[in-house]
Amino acid sequence: MVDAFGLLRAEDGAGYPGDLLHDTHGEFPGAAAVYSTDDNWKSRLKVALSEAVSARDAVIASLADGDQSLLTDMTRGLQVDDLIALIWSFEKEGAVSPKPLGEFLAEHGVLPMYGMPTRVKPLYMGAKQEGRAAAEFSTVDREQDLAIFEFAPGRSLVRDKRRFESVGLSSVLLPPRPNQRGSHASIAEHWMDEERWIAACPSCGAIASVVEEPTGSVACCDCQTSLGKELFERYVTPRAFTTTFRSEPADENEDLVAFRRVVTIEANDITIREINGSNLSVGSSDKATVLRLNDGVGEGDRVRPFTLVPVESHRVQIAPRRDWRLPGQMLTPEACQKLAAWKRIDGQGDAETVRLMSRKTTDALFLTPTSVSARLDVGRIGRDVADTGVRAALVSATQLLVQRAALALDIDPAEFDPLEPRLRNGKPVLQISDFLPERRRILSPSGVGF
Ligand SMILES: [Zn+2]
Repeated sequence: MVDAFGLLRAEDGAGYPGDLLHDTHGEFPGAAAVYSTDDNWKSRLKVALSEAVSARDAVIASLADGDQSLLTDMTRGLQVDDLIALIWSFEKEGAVSPKPLGEFLAEHGVLPMYGMPTRVKPLYMGAKQEGRAAAEFSTVDREQDLAIFEFAPGRSLVRDKRRFESVGLSSVLLPPRPNQRGSHASIAEHWMDEERWIAACPSCGAIASVVEEPTGSVACCDCQTSLGKELFERYVTPRAFTTTFRSEPADENEDLVAFRRVVTIEANDITIREINGSNLSVGSSDKATVLRLNDGVGEGDRVRPFTLVPVESHRVQIAPRRDWRLPGQMLTPEACQKLAAWKRIDGQGDAETVRLMSRKTTDALFLTPTSVSARLDVGRIGRDVADTGVRAALVSATQLLVQRAALALDIDPAEFDPLEPRLRNGKPVLQISDFLPERRRILSPSGVGF
C-alpha cells in the first residue's frame, strides 16, 4: 500500500494531498479525501496497487522464507480486489473522519498499530527551554485509554511537587517559530480526534455507536430493539489536554473527582457455538471494538458530563515577560471565568457538552451458558441496586477467568481487558478482550488461546 500511494504521489506531484498531514504510518492523504465520492481514488488506488504487486511479492517472499504453502496462503490473502473491498467497507465512517488514511486504517485493523504511538495523548503543562535551543512545550503523555481519565478536565497531576490541573482539551500545537516575532502557536491537529454518538440498549446492554447524530431511531444490532435518538449521547476522543500553565504547591488539598467509567464492547454480530459435553457456549471476534467511556463526574446517582467552551486563543506565560497564544482550546467554564478575569483568553464560543471515549479494535472472547434454569434470573446486569448481586457475580467471574487464563498462558493479567457483562437471549455473556490493539496473540480467532 505504501508503494501504491508512492506511485499516486509521484503522479500528483505538488498537488498530492498527503504531504502536510501528520501520520506516523506514512504520507497518506486524509481519509475523508480518499473516501469522498466525487473523487476517483478508488479506481486510481486499484490501478496503483496492481502496479505495486512486485513490492507485495517481495515482502511475502521474505516473510515466507522458502515455505511455499505459507507463500501461497499470504499471496491469496492479499489480493488487490479484496484489499480495495476491505478499505472501502469503512467508507461511511471514513468519509467523515478527520484522520489521515493510514491512522484511520490502523484503527480499523487494516494496517498495523502496535508499536506506533498514534494513541498517545499529551497534557500541556508549560514550556521549557534547554540551553540555547528554542523553547518548546512541556508535556506529560499517556496512552489514550488512560488519558481520557487521568487528564480529564478537573483531574490534577503532580510534577516536581507542583500540582497542575487539567482545565480542558486542546489541539495538537506547534510552538511559535523562534526567529519570528509572533507569539502564536499553530495547530498541527484539530482538538477532536474522533466523534461518535453512543447509546446502551436498555433491553440487552449492547452498545450502539454511530458516526453521525441519529435523526431517527436505530435498531440494536444484537436484539433489534428500537433505540430512540434521544438515547444517544455525543462522545469525543480529544487530541490533547491542557492546563492553565500555572501550578500550585502539591501539598494543598485536592478535590478528588470520580468519573463514571464504562469499559465495554461495541455490539456486532457474533456467532456463538456450543462446546460439546458442557453447558458452555463460546464466541470470538478478531474485529471487536472495545470502548472506554468517561461519562463525566459522578455526583451520587447522577453523572455530570463535561461542559467546555471553545476558546479562540489562550495566552499563557512561558517565561518572564514572554507569552504564547494557544489557538483551538476547549476550556471549562470555571477556567474561562478565571482566565477572563486575568485577561488571558480571547474569543469565547457557545459551551458544548461532551463525554470522552477511547476506541480500539482488537480480539475478544465471549462466554455464555448454553442453558440456564428457568428458576434463576441471572440476566440482571444493570447498575440498579436490586441488580447488584448478579452484576457483581458476573464481574467477579470475568476477573476469575482472566486470572486463571493468565496463569495458564503465563502472561500478565493486565494483558487482558475484562469488560462489562452483557445480555444475549436473556442469558449473561462474559466479555474479555486483548488489552493491546491489533495484536492477535492471546485470543486466537478460534479461542484456542484458552
Ligand atoms: Zn439490544
